Amino acid sequence: MDDFQLLIDLHKEGMRQGPGGDAQTALALELARIDRRAPLKVADIGCGTGASTLMLAKHLNAQITAVDFLQEFLDELTSRAQQGGLADKISTLACSMDDLPFADEELDIIWAEGAIYNIGFEKGVSEWRRFLKAGGLLVASEITWVTDSRPSEIQEHWDAEYPEIDTASAKIKLLEKYGCAPIGYFVLPEDCWVERYYAPMENRFEEFLLRHKNSEEAMAIVQAEQKEIDLYNRFKDYYSYGVYIATKI
Ligand code: SAH
Repeated sequence: MDDFQLLIDLHKEGMRQGPGGDAQTALALELARIDRRAPLKVADIGCGTGASTLMLAKHLNAQITAVDFLQEFLDELTSRAQQGGLADKISTLACSMDDLPFADEELDIIWAEGAIYNIGFEKGVSEWRRFLKAGGLLVASEITWVTDSRPSEIQEHWDAEYPEIDTASAKIKLLEKYGCAPIGYFVLPEDCWVERYYAPMENRFEEFLLRHKNSEEAMAIVQAEQKEIDLYNRFKDYYSYGVYIATKI
């Protein structure tokens, strides 16, 4: 099994594939002031196994297209949607987020939790905007510096991992630059990282390693995840995901 398949194997049983929480998805919905009875067309981009997709289906009168480039995650999402009695509101689309098939002004809402970084925030905002109706909503969580300065160790780490990491004021400026008016922002609290993402992942490490007979590749993946967790624990005062809510003008 190659490294990519191993990563999928570690993450597909997770409720989520990045930091987040149902309460925070609900908070974003509230701040977005969405009419919950209006029939809406929504895309959840980089949906993973569908934590946010299921919340959107529960709370909105929407037809949701759940987009991810990994069919394994979409299959998991489909079975969760069926178990939750939400399957009729959700369709899945295996597709890259830089090659989306939506028509101009087709969507009421674009939702992306812990995913837009895969093409970069600026590229995502500028390219996805055209799919939104006027007055439509973009809701995206994005890795964000929460202070003006930080220790060089964590600065260097993120400069290498995702050089687009920046402060909320810089991200909000980008939204404004591309004609998306910011109407809400909040920072994911620690439990979204620890209780909802890292701890469940750590609980899967042992079985994951057993399944792969402690192969060097599997151990390297666990070590890399542990390194990320250690960094978070040491430097969590300086970064988190920011959740950005904006309307297309
Ligand atoms: N929104 C989910 C998953 C976040 S992890 C959650 O919050 O739990 C990021 C997701 O983006 C993964 O599921 C990954 O498969 C997907 N992804 C990464 N690059 C992608 C791309 N280029 N196109 C589509 N999906 C992508």
